[in-house]
Amino acid sequence: MKITRSGDATERGPADWFTGDVFLDTIAEPAEPYRIAAINVHFTPGARTAWHTHPLGQTIFVTEGVGRCQRDGGPVEEIRPGDRVFFEPGERHWHGAAPDRFMVHVAMHQADDQGNAVTWGEHVSDQDYGARPAG
Ligand code: MN
Repeated sequence: MKITRSGDATERGPADWFTGDVFLDTIAEPAEPYRIAAINVHFTPGARTAWHTHPLGQTIFVTEGVGRCQRDGGPVEEIRPGDRVFFEPGERHWHGAAPDRFMVHVAMHQADDQGNAVTWGEHVSDQDYGARPAG
């Protein structure tokens, strides 16, 4: 058993992987053979991930605010507290806040045999992000 007390500094999401101000707090870290990673993520208005994929998929669970997400080739969807989204293994996608609202979600995913949990791509353009949500 290992208790990790609250107190680690909140991390800032790297600019290579996010647009806008994003803040990360670890919930669970992989430690072989345990493979689940979980992160509580705060997105400021307009902030979002870059396009990316997860080798074994990912679930996000929205806890606060209003957000947006999109899979490659699909419409921009609005997401709200209580909504959960599963991204298929290898499915290219992004997730983030609405333009005028904060959004908080818990992200849960597993590392593959090489320890990779995410492969990052280019930033989401303002044009793609601003597309009218389908929700
Ligand atoms: Mn993701």
